[in-house]
Parts: sequence; structure tokens; C-alpha cells
Amino acid sequence: HSKQQGRDGYTVYNHALRQGKADQLALEAELRHALEGEHELVPYFQPFVDSASGAVTGFETLVRWRHPERGLIPPALFLPMAQESGLIRRLDRYMIVRACEQLARWRAEGRADALCALHINLSSENLRDDDLAVWIAGVLQRCSLPPHLIYLEVTESALIDVPEQAQRVMQALHDVGVRLALDDFGTGYSALSYLHRYRFDLLKIDQAFVREVGVNAESTAIVRAILALAQALQLEVVAEGVETAEQVDALRALGCPRLQGYYFSPPRPAGEVYWGAQASVLAG
Ligand code: C2E
Ligand code: MG
Ligand code: MG
Ligand code: MG
Repeated sequence: HSKQQGRDGYTVYNHALRQGKADQLALEAELRHALEGEHELVPYFQPFVDSASGAVTGFETLVRWRHPERGLIPPALFLPMAQESGLIRRLDRYMIVRACEQLARWRAEGRADALCALHINLSSENLRDDDLAVWIAGVLQRCSLPPHLIYLEVTESALIDVPEQAQRVMQALHDVGVRLALDDFGTGYSALSYLHRYRFDLLKIDQAFVREVGVNAESTAIVRAILALAQALQLEVVAEGVETAEQVDALRALGCPRLQGYYFSPPRPAGEVYWGAQASVLAG
């Protein structure tokens, strides 16, 4: 067994999913089963913080599969199968419901303040669904959540698949007040045309540029340019994959308003999430 301790604090069983077609079919059936219950598929939450104060301003939801025999399976190992089988549509909706219910609970408990945002990843399959916006509006109403707290994160590749329909669905989401974030910004091949064509509210600067920010001149210039672009277009920005104090310092110096990454906290289950900085984290 190749066993590897992930940075997220879970154990990844690489061997479990490296098998043939039969295994993929079995896994598909298992995912179908998992979607009918509520114990195997669990939302983890990773905070993002205000770069000046260190205060948590919201969370991104990331799916984890606690498989009864295979251990904890990270999304990269089952999302492709979920996409191919069409189960991704149900998975995303399952995650939207679970995450919204959790935010509602945190608000009711006084844990989350009125501005605490919730980011949820959305696959391209869901951008094909003309009823998505109405469905989400129903979930939000049931949870008593203001739609503007919810950001749906989509990647450029999700938009390539379904350009016209995606545009329509995204407009409908805007109309119900939900916000849209462009994930992994800068790693696709036509990011600027997407910004032009779709109405995004927020950009997530990909870890590829964050990794060497402040160290490598090109990375630093790219991050600076993305921040200027976001400001010109009046978009919010989050830098993702922030792992070191050096990256935090460089991003703060460049004026990046929000930061997310292992430096602050990995994604964690609802009961164990990180709610804020000790005074020392951002000091100096
Ligand atoms: P993403 O949305 O770009 O999420 C960021 C990924 O980077 C997450 O991996 C997160 O755990 C990881 N990460 C966060 N901080 C750091 C850091 O400081 N360093 C490093 N090296 N990694 C960091 P994860 O959870 O394995 O998810 C991978 C991708 O799977 C996500 O990328 C997203 O595209 C997709 N995904 C996750 N959950 C869902 C879901 O519920 N629905 C859909 N459709 N996609 C999901
Ligand atoms: Mg994301
Ligand atoms: Mg990302
Ligand atoms: Mg990504």
C-alpha cells in the first residue's frame, strides 16, 4: 500500500484508485451510494483571511470522501469519474446544501458573523442546468441565507465546455443575487476573454503565481498585474495556496486584500475549522 500523509491531515490511499475499468465502475456505484447518505461525503472548510487584520472573512467548501474501506479520498481522485458519470451534478448540489446548512448553523450559533462568505466549487455540468439559479435560491431561502454571501467558484475550463449556456446560467445566478468567482485565475489560456464575456465578482489568483511571489520577478509582476486588473474591473481578489510567511509579506506589500492557504489553515471538517488568527500570525 502506498500510503501518504496529506497536508490536509488525512491519509491518502493512492493504491485504491489506481486500478482498471472494473474498479472505476465499482467506485461509481459507491459514489452513487454515498450521495444517498450523508456520512461519507463531507464538506471541509478552508478559511480565507483579510490580509491586513488576519480576520477570517469566509470559507471555501471542499469535498472529502470518507470511504468506509478505501480511507479518505481527495477530490482529484474521484472528481474525474464523477464528471464522466454525470454524478458531479448531484455531488455539487449535495455540497451546496451541506455547506449552506453549515453556514446557517454557524450564523445561528453566533460563530459566523453577518458578513461571513461561503465559497462553493461548481463544475461545468451544473452550468448546463437552466434551473440551477432557481434551485439555489430555494436552498438559500430555506437556510435563511442572503444570496450575496454565496460565491460559486468556476474554472476557465468549465466555461470552455458550455459557453452560451454558461452565460445564461451565470446571468440567472446573478439575478438571484449569488456571486461568481473565477478560480485558478491565469492558468487557462483565455482568462481575459472570460472576464470580458462573463460577469465575475471575484478572482482567485492561482497558486502557480503565489508560490514564488516576492522571490521571482516574473511571478511578482504577474500578481501585481492581476491585482491592478482586478482593481480596474472592481473585482474582489483572493490569493490561493499561500503557504509561507514570505508569501504573506509579499502579497500584503502588493496590496492583495484576501489570502487563503495552508499558512493560515488547511481545509478542515466543520467542527475543527480555524476561526481567526492568534495576534502573532500577521504581526510584523
Ligand atoms: P480549488 O477549488 O482550486 O481548491 C484549492 C485546492 O488547493 C484544494 O485541494 C485545497 O485543499 C488545496 N490547497 C489549499 N491551500 C493550499 C496550500 O496552501 N497549498 C497547497 N499545495 N494546496 C492548497 P482539494 O481540496 O484537493 O481540491 C482540488 C480541486 O477539486 C479544487 O481546486 C476544486 O477544483 C475541486 N473540488 C473540490 N471540492 C469540490 C466540490 O465540492 N465540487 C467541485 N465541482 N469541485 C471540487
Ligand atoms: Mg476553488
Ligand atoms: Mg483554485
Ligand atoms: Mg484548482
